[in-house]
Amino acid sequence: MANSAQLNKSDSPLARLEEWEDFLKTRYPEPAPEMAEKKSVGTDPNKKKEAFRNYEADARPSVREFYRLNHRYQTYDFVQAKKKEFLGLSRRQMGIWEAAEYLNQLVDDSDPDTDLSQLEHLLQTAEHLRQDGQPRWMILTGFVHDLGKMLCLWGEPQWAVVGDTFPVGCAYSDKIVFPQFFVDNPDSQNPRFQTRNGIYEEGCGLDRVHISWGHDEYIYQVCKDYLPQEGLYMLRYHSFYPWHRESEYGHLCNERDRAMLKWVQAFNPYDLYTKSHQKPNVKELRPFYENLIAEYFPAKLRW
Ligand code: FE
Ligand code: FE
Repeated sequence: MANSAQLNKSDSPLARLEEWEDFLKTRYPEPAPEMAEKKSVGTDPNKKKEAFRNYEADARPSVREFYRLNHRYQTYDFVQAKKKEFLGLSRRQMGIWEAAEYLNQLVDDSDPDTDLSQLEHLLQTAEHLRQDGQPRWMILTGFVHDLGKMLCLWGEPQWAVVGDTFPVGCAYSDKIVFPQFFVDNPDSQNPRFQTRNGIYEEGCGLDRVHISWGHDEYIYQVCKDYLPQEGLYMLRYHSFYPWHRESEYGHLCNERDRAMLKWVQAFNPYDLYTKSHQKPNVKELRPFYENLIAEYFPAKLRW
């Protein structure tokens, strides 16, 4: 099925949005079972910078092109414009399950036999959390975490919906994947935006920091009155790999961010490593999720 994300191929080079996530998995491979038991998520201190760069060399041309566009066009002004455009939440009113079904229309050039639909990815993430005995709000957070990808259905290019996120308005960390592509970003020529703190104050807190625009911020804003703070951090920063995996940007964080980081890190493996296992049975699972949704969310939310 065609969708707006595919209408302009040059703007959206990925054959499937999941090509981005596949690339994340080559950069952050699933730890061996013994490691996973220790629940050791986060940066491996022994990982050499060299090895990191090789992932870039091995990236598919479509992924490389995707990051080139992302790094070039995600400027401070672009982020402000998108916030203005979308965060009024005046597009439509939908319940959470309805939104998941709506998002499920998003079909890329995927193989339906092996690739998961959007709804299947949400259910799989949530089910993995449930099997691990995680709290109900966290299971629900897993179920909603990628609903912001519906931005694609409204004609937004892939590079403005997915991709590792990073702060705008201050210097780029060299731990952001493909940092060389920032030379084409007009912000890199603006000295105000290129100091360590840029337009921000040391320790101001991530809430004050503008992050490159995408599905994280959008779903956070939709859900912000309904989920506990820990879940909201998971939504808002799950693609902020430079922070939760590379330990960058600590100088912009406050006490609350430092306390919440472990929750964002605890969520990441459920998002990244649950794909490609068994397909969830949507019909069977629906009643459980409808109940869970009703516990936290109103029947309709603003999108
Ligand atoms: Fe996501
Ligand atoms: Fe996800």
